[in-house]
Amino acid sequence: MDYKKLADLLYPNVKETIDHYLKKYPKRQLKEGAEVMRIAPSPTGYLHTGHAYSAFISRATTRKTNGVFYFRLEDTDQKRLIENAGTIAYDMLCYYDMKPDEGYTGDGKPQIGDYGDYVQSKRIDIYKCFAKHLVSVGRAFPCFCEKSEGKEDVLNKRQEQLENSGTIEDKDVCRHLTYEEIENNIKQGKPFALKLLSMGNPEKTFKFHDLIKGDREIRENAKDIVLVKSNGIPPYSFAHVVDDTLMGTTIVVRGEEWFPSLASHLEVFNAFGFKPPKYAHTPVICKLDENGNKRKLSKRKDPEADVRYFIEQGYPVVSVMEYLLNLLNSDFEQWRERNPMLSYKDFDFKISKIGSNNPMFDFNKLNDVSKNHISKLIKEQVYDNLCEYAKNYDEMFYNILTKNSEYSKNVLNIDRENAKPRKDIAKWSDVKTYYNYMFNLFNPTKLEDYEIQDVDICKLKEVCQEYAKVYNQSDDKQIWFNRIKEMANKLDYATDNKLYKQNPQNYKGNVSDVCMYIRIAITGRKNSPDLYSICSLLEKDEVVNRLNKICNM
Ligand code: GLU
Repeated sequence: MDYKKLADLLYPNVKETIDHYLKKYPKRQLKEGAEVMRIAPSPTGYLHTGHAYSAFISRATTRKTNGVFYFRLEDTDQKRLIENAGTIAYDMLCYYDMKPDEGYTGDGKPQIGDYGDYVQSKRIDIYKCFAKHLVSVGRAFPCFCEKSEGKEDVLNKRQEQLENSGTIEDKDVCRHLTYEEIENNIKQGKPFALKLLSMGNPEKTFKFHDLIKGDREIRENAKDIVLVKSNGIPPYSFAHVVDDTLMGTTIVVRGEEWFPSLASHLEVFNAFGFKPPKYAHTPVICKLDENGNKRKLSKRKDPEADVRYFIEQGYPVVSVMEYLLNLLNSDFEQWRERNPMLSYKDFDFKISKIGSNNPMFDFNKLNDVSKNHISKLIKEQVYDNLCEYAKNYDEMFYNILTKNSEYSKNVLNIDRENAKPRKDIAKWSDVKTYYNYMFNLFNPTKLEDYEIQDVDICKLKEVCQEYAKVYNQSDDKQIWFNRIKEMANKLDYATDNKLYKQNPQNYKGNVSDVCMYIRIAITGRKNSPDLYSICSLLEKDEVVNRLNKICNM
């Protein structure tokens, strides 16, 4: 077959050659070792946590190597297009401090960089040119099977072929069409899909080094995969080969789910004679379902699959990034302990340290990481971040916080800015409930509104009654504490206590019990940040009123 002639028959309007594009997008002038990496999401309406995870790897690696991190929008699946989805994905990357250096920046916004267009649907002419090239070198053929043709029809055709030729070939039936048959179909205006003429032998394997999975042995591709659909649009397997080549990608980081089709992608690179980039197939973030089985994070079932969820919940960007780093590099946690005050960006992130097991998404761990991060912030930072959050998600609380900003900051400073700050706030949405008693948002009307399980109500009331009489707002911490001690001794709760009987001299439990009763009256809970600070920040009358209130219930 004269492939050149066939190429002209199939693509009469394509005049350029691939050399035109290879010259137009020359090799990037970057320093030795600089990596070029991309995030290439399909516009599905949100940015999946898994994509953020891959983006993190690419952003961190290109930052470290002085390379380029770019955004390419893979919008060729027209059926699934969602308005604004690309913009959302770009904005999310920026929000999470992973702003790309180059590429698409949102619908209707100018793109950055010389290797565009960075939106696949705008690159159809380029794909056509590359498609024509593959036909002209005998590595692609047109397939006229109609989409409606079911599996059965295709199987029947294969059977027919088998009977005629006597060999079994798991290849596409249309690969054997003659030039005349093809020409005839074209004349009749039949649409065609372009398929790869695979030369792989599925009996053979080859060695492949994946930057995360390590050395692997892979079966050669034997499938005549679709390169261009009959509507002229190329699927991922063809489009990314062309794009990553022209855009100079050096490492492709993508989800593990692409690994099974890797051999076919490599065959397409090979058919062109292009050197493929290095690949890093990331493990997939999983979680346990109700039955204890591991499964992939799913947009439908898990709100945390969409990175906007963390924003709505009020997790700081740093917390989410540090959590992802925890999932990615197991030595990050130790590094964090040794370097509590450094930025996570100072961590020497290495792709080679990424484990190949699928990590589990664990909210408890995320919360711990986040509590740790928030505990290290100074009160102004906490106040600013909290206000920013409340402004968008809780206007009522925002008004409360900003009405008396000094007071709010002092509340947020309780047990903060010291050597052992309290680690209790994981996300900004926690604060309103956590400190409801400091912002007039805790208004108990009955004893059950307090945390009183296993509490001796008689003693609680007795303590609160006594304490209301002696409470002095101007006491310093030592005097404040001494006063409580004195009262505890006077009330002499210790005598019926088992621990007291065992060791009367050292028994201090009565003081902590007394403190607990006061704490319940003031905050509603058995545990709270420093009680002295809480009382000092409230008005004197407020403290006494709360003590009296519980006594009268
Ligand atoms: N568009 C593909 C996706 O959204 C990109 C995969 C890749 O990063 O290569 O999954």
